[in-house]
Amino acid sequence: MSKRIILTGANGFVGSHILSRLLAAGHSVRSIVRSQAKASQVAADFPDYDGQHLDFGIVPDITTPGAFNEAVKSSPPFDILIHTASPFLYGAVSNNLDFLDPAIKGTLEVLKAVKEFAPSVMRVVLTSSCAAVINFAAPFASDPPKVYTEEDWNPITWEKALTGPANNGYQASKKFAEQAAWDFVQKGKPNFDLVTLTPPMIYGPLRHSIASVKQLNESNLRIYNLFVNSKEDAELPPNGLHIYTDVRDIALAHVKAATIPEASGQRFIICAGHVSSQEISDILRKSMPELKSRTPKGTPGAKVDPKLFTASSEKAKKVLGLTYKTKEETFVELAKQLLEIERNEKV
Ligand code: NDP
Repeated sequence: MSKRIILTGANGFVGSHILSRLLAAGHSVRSIVRSQAKASQVAADFPDYDGQHLDFGIVPDITTPGAFNEAVKSSPPFDILIHTASPFLYGAVSNNLDFLDPAIKGTLEVLKAVKEFAPSVMRVVLTSSCAAVINFAAPFASDPPKVYTEEDWNPITWEKALTGPANNGYQASKKFAEQAAWDFVQKGKPNFDLVTLTPPMIYGPLRHSIASVKQLNESNLRIYNLFVNSKEDAELPPNGLHIYTDVRDIALAHVKAATIPEASGQRFIICAGHVSSQEISDILRKSMPELKSRTPKGTPGAKVDPKLFTASSEKAKKVLGLTYKTKEETFVELAKQLLEIERNEKV
């Protein structure tokens, strides 16, 4: 049945894929973005739906008290909120609070607004992250390997979030925002229930249009810089976070989390599995001859360290019925699009 849905961050990498799926499924969506220019861009990306099943709310600063109060009012009223907006672009922040404040205050503000001004909302889906799950201070490899589940929380403290490197700020922003949401639901007793999704790195082709690779989102920007715009003899980049999921799978996970009754009150890890730098390099070099001189060669065929931790997606498989795209689909389709963006930039 068609639902009326609020989607924050609709112009972003993940948000635009969620929007695409929601619209294709016949839902009516209010996209919340920071400016009219961003709303116009989303409208241009979805020309078949603008004014029909797609409308907009402009919230310039999600940390302001009452920021969402007007944007969540609607006739017909809303049924569902999907909150994805949160800073992840490292180049756009100047200190760790720039991650923490919008993540935590933005989450609380939208939940408060929905509780008070959109009491018809029965389900909230929050895009959290494996950053809220993993203990990044623990060794990544062990025998047997650690398997993270929905019971795990990143133990990072507020003090380390403020004083550590930027990674601490981002990771903690996702942990404290998610915890604030669970706390809000437990203490505030709103009409809605909460579902949180904790994906690891998300990669894959873009659904929104960008004019330049400089406008890429954080995760795909790393693929561009390290694997598409490098050199054959460059050192293979370190793995970074070696678990991932495809953006199209995480988008579907949001739609299912929003609509499946059994998801109520649950936290879900959405993880396709391991991927190493060597695998990304091997996949790109094999499938895209034009990248041979631009993708670090490393040691082709080297296997992923089986002792590295992983994250269990069993619950998501059982309750949401999720399956995952192949690594080739994720990385080759992304890399082809990155080259196309580059080409268009030059004309
Ligand atoms: P994008 O940068 O593409 O999108 C982020 C969205 O959040 C944009 O709509 C952006 O709006 C909005 N946003 C960012 N900072 C602020 C702010 N200070 N105030 C208001 N809105 C803001 O990133 P992704 O699509 O990758 O991220 C979407 C969500 O997914 C985030 O919650 C992120 O933490 C989570 N996630 C992403 C992963 C990944 O690998 N990509 C992995 C795990 C979780 P604007 O364009 O105006 O800046």
